[in-house]
Amino acid sequence: MSEPCVFCSIVAGDLPSRRVHEDDRVLAFMDINPISDGHLLVIPKSHARDLHDVPAEDLAACALVAQQLATRAVDRLDADGVNLLQCSGEAAFQTVFHVHLHVIPRYAGDPARDRLGQQWTPVHTPGDPERIAEVAARLA
Ligand code: 5GP
Ligand code: ZN
Repeated sequence: MSEPCVFCSIVAGDLPSRRVHEDDRVLAFMDINPISDGHLLVIPKSHARDLHDVPAEDLAACALVAQQLATRAVDRLDADGVNLLQCSGEAAFQTVFHVHLHVIPRYAGDPARDRLGQQWTPVHTPGDPERIAEVAARLA
């Protein structure tokens, strides 16, 4: 890795962060620009750029920590639900190129604690069955 990485600096302790979990592989810390109360980030300590680049063991470890912290957000912050978000690539809104999972606690009808809003709008429009079958065949 040649470019400086803000999350590697956080792992190293060169930049401050509010840590909520740390083990050999994984660090979880509060997002500096929380979109909801308790919004946090789960990262592998070892640098990887995105979803395609991260070793399976690190991704699995991050997923388990994200699950634990999501449950904690429900139990301790009274969240009504949780979104997990992973952005890989600029087209998917990735801005920090050290792979991370967002854990976003959700609070129904409480804009003071939840600024995400209804960002996922189901389309309720059935897709073209031929196109669905075609992409399925390419993905299988
Ligand atoms: P992305 O858009 O790449 O999925 O999300 C990057 C996230 O990292 C953003 O939510 C942003 O607020 C957060 N972030 C960026 N720089 C820092 C930082 O220095 N400290 C912390 N705690 N979060 C950061
Ligand atoms: Zn990094």
